[in-house]
Amino acid sequence: MGTITGVLGPIDGRDLGFTLMHEHVMVCASGLRAHYPDLLGPDQETRAVAALRRAKENGIDTMVDATTFDLGRDPLLLKTVAAESGVNLINVTGWWLDVPRFMHGVGPNQMAREFVRDIEEGFRGTDVKAGLLKCAADSEGVTPMLEVMARAVARAHLETGVPIMVHSFPTGQVARRQIEIFRDEGVDLTRVKIDHSNDTTDTEYLEWILDQGCYLGLDRYPGRNVSPHMRTLTLKRLMDMGYADRLCPAHDCICLHIHKENPDGSIPEEHEFQRSNPEQYLYIKRFVIPDLLEMGATEEDVDVLFVDNPRRFLTGD
Ligand SMILES: [Zn+2]
Repeated sequence: MGTITGVLGPIDGRDLGFTLMHEHVMVCASGLRAHYPDLLGPDQETRAVAALRRAKENGIDTMVDATTFDLGRDPLLLKTVAAESGVNLINVTGWWLDVPRFMHGVGPNQMAREFVRDIEEGFRGTDVKAGLLKCAADSEGVTPMLEVMARAVARAHLETGVPIMVHSFPTGQVARRQIEIFRDEGVDLTRVKIDHSNDTTDTEYLEWILDQGCYLGLDRYPGRNVSPHMRTLTLKRLMDMGYADRLCPAHDCICLHIHKENPDGSIPEEHEFQRSNPEQYLYIKRFVIPDLLEMGATEEDVDVLFVDNPRRFLTGD
């Protein structure tokens, strides 16, 4: 059985257990927590540890923390939170959507080398290594700089063998172009997971992605625009179509985020994501799995989605 690199070191595939494949402890911007920590609200470590302890107590063993450099990655925070909560955390390298203008002109081989170092040697100044690669494109499609990052991620994957998660925009069918780039780079598409795919109910498009060999991240719960129940109906429909072994539901939950000033000048105690999902990492356990069982899924199906699929995707076994 293969292993995957967590923030505390290698994790045996058999020890991954119940796994959420796209979550965040903290999302902000690179360097923000070091320079303007108060924007993220009080007692950050304490709040994050408490949220993940609650998750662990309710049977969540592992989470992929999808926070790249440009989303404010803080490897040492993740290390503390993993150690104190007992949840295995796996961090990513690669890039999300924010490429600073001074970086325009960097090339894919150059960025691939940096990502490979994150995987093999660790994030600079720490002993924390990345376990996955991530790239992104959204409503504007794969812009030239996002294409550089996608190709860099593909090349770092070919060198290291670690799997790729992809922030995508299903409403614009953006994965068609992202997959084309991976194919062009020679990536084995069974090591690629196309995320945020439950922001659509268009199963014809999702079936096309699955037929390319990719996994699907159905990782927005409760999410916006599409109701949670509709998301679960789409999940069940794809299971019934025979794709149960490549579907990965998760929340895209953010525990620590910027607390934005109210119109009256006060600072809210809870940030917008906390307000929209007070259950945090437990929403799926409390609402989605019961809904899925009600639709006729079995406990074995639940294990496939949250134990077998993550283990297979993460370890490559
Ligand atoms: Zn995310």
